Amino acid sequence: MRIGIGHDTHRLGPQGPLRLGGVDVPHDAHAIGHSDADVLLHAITDALLGALALGDIGSWFPDTAPENAGRDSADFLKAALSAVTERGWRLENLDCIVFAQRPKLAPHREALRSSLARLLEVDLDRVSFKAKTGEKVDAVGREEAIQAQAVVLLERVAT
Ligand code: MG
Repeated sequence: MRIGIGHDTHRLGPQGPLRLGGVDVPHDAHAIGHSDADVLLHAITDALLGALALGDIGSWFPDTAPENAGRDSADFLKAALSAVTERGWRLENLDCIVFAQRPKLAPHREALRSSLARLLEVDLDRVSFKAKTGEKVDAVGREEAIQAQAVVLLERVAT
């Protein structure tokens, strides 16, 4: 077994939608970034890479590279997943948290889980999604930023 952890933060700017887990969540703010700024997919990508000590999303996909500008973060996740499967590992489960003061994410939980399960090519019951507010303090609570955390467990595929 291998475990990996990922964390990410993005600043928020005016006008939506809010790209999260490969889903465009209706909102009056969006995450600012070089790519599509999907904070959740970035955290999961880092968790997958971290589980096998393969570096991080910044070394794989520099935010100075023009080809990554506005890029769909699903590309980053797919690359990390391929790196995992090519080395003989499979995803056992994912648990993740998004920290956002607004919008309420509970109504989007199943859509987000479905999107993540599809992108990660696993059954839905291996994907957990949780949402927390920032309790109106710090950058998340003041709606200046959005954050995500992810943990993955990988299992060696029997050969
Ligand atoms: Mg990021």
